[in-house]
Amino acid sequence: MDKLIKTIATSGSFRAYILDSTETVRAAQDKHHTLSSSTVALGRTLIANQILAANQKGEAKVTVKVIGNSSFGHIISVADTAGHVKGYIQNPGVDIKKTETGEVLVGPFMGQGQFVSIIDYGTGRPYTSTTPLVSGEIGEDFAYYLTESEQTPSAVGLNVLLDDKDQVKVAGGFMLQVLPDAKEEDITRFEKRIQEMPAISTLLESDNHTQALIDALYGDDSYKILAEEVLSFACDCSKGRFRAALASLGKDELQAMKDEDHGAEITCQFCGKTYNFDEKDLEEIIDDQA
Ligand SMILES: [Zn+2]
Repeated sequence: MDKLIKTIATSGSFRAYILDSTETVRAAQDKHHTLSSSTVALGRTLIANQILAANQKGEAKVTVKVIGNSSFGHIISVADTAGHVKGYIQNPGVDIKKTETGEVLVGPFMGQGQFVSIIDYGTGRPYTSTTPLVSGEIGEDFAYYLTESEQTPSAVGLNVLLDDKDQVKVAGGFMLQVLPDAKEEDITRFEKRIQEMPAISTLLESDNHTQALIDALYGDDSYKILAEEVLSFACDCSKGRFRAALASLGKDELQAMKDEDHGAEITCQFCGKTYNFDEKDLEEIIDDQA
């Protein structure tokens, strides 16, 4: 079971989220049949979205779009504040590794573009912010977004490790933020620690990676665990929702679908589930419009 652990330094200078997102990214790979680079790019986006959703006060729907101009195309993800996230990548088939090390490449295939967030508290006026992609590696782009757009100095590490068959082995990450009351000496100490901490991939390899991340972030500083929240990949699609989408089409279009195609098949982009509407279903939708 995936989880997000909310922690705070006892000094009140810093707070950190630590995530295990392994099952989430595994589910995404399973649903979208992504190859190596696409798995890592989509996985990192889902983890960034999980962090951003957990960071909202109150109930909200949080959309993250990583819009690049290279092979991946767009990566779209939506999370809620109850720990659910869903998402897809336009091109699931990017599979590029360094020959020598086998390292999966992401940044160059994201290209240039934007990191977009849309935060919707259900008031009908969602907040949208956009920052440019810094490297296309997604973790750095997300850290830049947090620092620029939300004006909170943040350190972010997130990654997805694959096994030798390119299946998800482990996925997770962290976000560390300076709190307004932080003392200068605390900031200096934490900055130094972040600079010197092992690479996120190394920490994710640990047997208990969430504890390894906590230890690396806090060092000798004491901390408190504030909350542990369950995370999962979950799609909220339903036949009713797609029926409503069909109902928004014109009568002629629906009639043509019924007469010529004898039905309609709709696949959810976020989870790959397919819904079938037969002639009778379409007839009902047409009748409802009358
Ligand atoms: Zn779905």
